[in-house]
Amino acid sequence: MVTRFAPSPTGRLHLGHAWSAWQAFRFARDCGGRFLLRIEDIDPGRCRDEFVDGIVEDLVWLGLDWDGPVRRQSEHLADYAAALDRLKAMGLAYPCFCTRKAIEAEIAASGNAPHGPDGPIYPGTCRHLTAAERDARMAAEPHAWRLDMAAAVARAGPLTWHDNRAGTIAATPELFGDVVLARKDAPTSYHLAVVHDDALQGVTDIVRGEDLFAATHVHRLLQALLDLPTPRYHHHALVLDAEGKRLAKRDRGATIADLRVTGADPRGIIAGLEARVADPILQMTAGEPPDREGA
Ligand code: GLU
Repeated sequence: MVTRFAPSPTGRLHLGHAWSAWQAFRFARDCGGRFLLRIEDIDPGRCRDEFVDGIVEDLVWLGLDWDGPVRRQSEHLADYAAALDRLKAMGLAYPCFCTRKAIEAEIAASGNAPHGPDGPIYPGTCRHLTAAERDARMAAEPHAWRLDMAAAVARAGPLTWHDNRAGTIAATPELFGDVVLARKDAPTSYHLAVVHDDALQGVTDIVRGEDLFAATHVHRLLQALLDLPTPRYHHHALVLDAEGKRLAKRDRGATIADLRVTGADPRGIIAGLEARVADPILQMTAGEPPDREGA
């Protein structure tokens, strides 16, 4: 049994992260498993080293420790490029030259663009370019890479995944449209890197907030396409503020660093979270070993 906490160092940890880290840590420790720390720092514009140091400091202060070295995604970009190459070789990825503004304008002009879990879905503009247009533009313009979702779903066939609270789920990645596999400014994306690393690191149980529940549909598809095993998922309830909204990094006063300077007791913070979150996964049991067969 292997779990992990995989924060993006775009700010200091807040109570919601502490809860997520604690849940994954406790789950591993209660089951005699391993708990890993992975830093998801693929976004060069938003990730900062000082936040990596701060995250490590906050976790140690909270009383967590982890097994083995910390994996930093920015040090493994070649791995993700190789995974992307496999998808390209299967004819499932295409370059996208669109700017965010152009995509927004196209969606606005179309009137009734379909929405996915993350908002309006990409209209597929660059999927329709001819091979000659693609080649010419690739030589001259910065580009992202997108998954040809319809082709990918057709190739993978029907898929399911399992969530500890929600049970067996039929995967519906098509609702996301042609997701980004590699960004213009980074040779990977969250979806590709997370799926690659969870498999590489032998993660059997992914314990993370329910804000990432929907993303699992895409992860399940990428696992199938790349012949990677599918872990069990435990999407836990989020820590909410007094108005019932989920905490965000921008909320002041809720970071672990803020609480530390007030002289708070880490054990009190964890106990407070356990009392505050409606349906913790504290009753989780190790259950059956996950399907390690892959797709
Ligand atoms: N890096 C992601 C985040 O900070 C979490 C990834 C995951 O747990 O799958 O939101």
